Amino acid sequence: MTAGPARGRPCTFDEHAQDAYLALLATGTRIGDAADKLGISRRTPTQLAGRDRAFAARLANAKQAGRTARIPHGTAGGYTNHACRCRPCTTAAVHSRSNSPDRKGADIHHLPDTQQPTATTKFLTLADVG
Ligand SMILES: [Zn+2]
Repeated sequence: MTAGPARGRPCTFDEHAQDAYLALLATGTRIGDAADKLGISRRTPTQLAGRDRAFAARLANAKQAGRTARIPHGTAGGYTNHACRCRPCTTAAVHSRSNSPDRKGADIHHLPDTQQPTATTKFLTLADVG
């Protein structure tokens, strides 16, 4: 008897594919895109995670790493949309706010350098602004 094609469903999500899938997720590829790249169903990894605790843990770690990897660090979006408070994101958000059209042309009234602000100087400064 000659060996024909294997019977049953081929194992499309073997260990090699699992590693590739998790590596894609960890670098920020979205779940559906990673599944499409490997030619597997989007549900396959979730189903495997349901019956394999070790894979479920690796999947959770890869997803978390992917979330972190997707944050566009050094942009105001990283700060505003992803609530990242790293230095580059914070700096970008401050810069973005100070360049906002709302602030363009606004008169900034600085306190006199020689005086420490007191209740009176604050009042005078506010009165000066009108
Ligand atoms: Zn950041």
